[in-house]
Amino acid sequence: TALEHIEANERNLNALITPMYEEARSRAWMLDAALSRGEDMGPLFGVPVVVKDNITIDGIRTTCGSRMLENWIPPYSAHVVECLERAGAVIIGKANMDEFAMGSSTEFSAFGPTLNPWDLSRVPGGSSGGSAASVAAGYAPISLGSDTGGSIRQPAAFCGVYGLKPTYGLVSRFGLVAFASSLDQIGPFARNLSDLAVVLQVISEADTRDATCVRKERPNYLDFLNVESLKGFKVGYLSGYESMEIDEEIKRGVTQALRICQDAGAEIVEVKLPISTRYGLPCYYTIAPAEASSNLARFDGVQYGFSVEAEDLQDLYLKSRGAGFGPEVKRRILIGTFVLGSSRYDAYYLQAQKVRQLIIREFDAAFSRADVLLMPATPTLPFRRGEKMTDPVKAYMADLFTIPANLAGLPGLSMKISFSHSGLPIGVQLVGKKFGEGDILKTASVIE
Ligand code: GLN
Repeated sequence: TALEHIEANERNLNALITPMYEEARSRAWMLDAALSRGEDMGPLFGVPVVVKDNITIDGIRTTCGSRMLENWIPPYSAHVVECLERAGAVIIGKANMDEFAMGSSTEFSAFGPTLNPWDLSRVPGGSSGGSAASVAAGYAPISLGSDTGGSIRQPAAFCGVYGLKPTYGLVSRFGLVAFASSLDQIGPFARNLSDLAVVLQVISEADTRDATCVRKERPNYLDFLNVESLKGFKVGYLSGYESMEIDEEIKRGVTQALRICQDAGAEIVEVKLPISTRYGLPCYYTIAPAEASSNLARFDGVQYGFSVEAEDLQDLYLKSRGAGFGPEVKRRILIGTFVLGSSRYDAYYLQAQKVRQLIIREFDAAFSRADVLLMPATPTLPFRRGEKMTDPVKAYMADLFTIPANLAGLPGLSMKISFSHSGLPIGVQLVGKKFGEGDILKTASVIE
């Protein structure tokens, strides 16, 4: 059965932190009974789904890949989980991830790393590595991840599946444990575009519990698929990165995708994003840790269970945070508190906010010329386990092409275009205008 398939593969992959076999079984019985009563079947009726472990499900522990939340059982479900359940989905497990979604390889999980199903000596990407690997390995046709700087698109590219980060504000963050609130967005992974579109439809229902979730009407995303022609449509080709250290096979993948768009009648325009490619990374690694240091202050050894015996309150904070957080989370908190310090705020945090504005404007200009932008999803193919563990800056480079879309709040999708000589998936990325998910899906369905 499906659950046996997962159990057998989990010994190698470690894509799930908390399997939900029992819950899935009883849910399936429940749905079966509802079916025989002739009740309404939702668009995901009976479909197995894996959910990243920073998204809450009432009564099921949510660890965020951290010792700190090892035993935390949330008393409520995330908006997206409620949407999935209303649509008839069967949630079969909570996916492994880098601790608090900080990382690009799922090696920073307190529950051990997830491996890449295509090559077990390589990483699946991160931080939603468990969600991407689950779909690639056939645990479930769809899964949910979160993307703050690339955590859906980078693992999707590394695992050869579709991954979409929606426009900031399209999907409610209610029930998503916050990393960097102005950048976080929940999105789907799938093995084909129609599944991806259906999940997007289901989870993008407006929600008042996230003040940044927009009320506007969502289009029918399936309407954008199965287009034959891109006539009258402009695809922006990101130039200027060729001289950078990008894997040759990835460059070729982008060229291949571009040619397909051109053959389908699209007009190809050259687009330059010099500020985003040059300053996106430092800007992100100032703003994201700043927000994280504030968001993670609540994990203090008093609430949420994890606590270490201590002399007094100060000692309790120090010891609990010292033992509860892993190395990457500590690094981010330190960077965050550093850039927010009263004597450094102007020089770092404020400066980064200004750069962010410039990046937003740069994209605005690009989208006055193009409907959608085509670029690499990652600078490299899936790297080997352990390869980037000792040098954080090297690991941060993995997000070079994904981070700008988060800073500008734009939607982005990554997909497999072909395979490398070594049999690894090669991904490309499409970035759209705000709420331009439809344009992205349309272009992707032509490239597919
Ligand atoms: N890899 C990036 C980071 O470590 C992005 C993470 C994410 O999108 N959650 O911050």
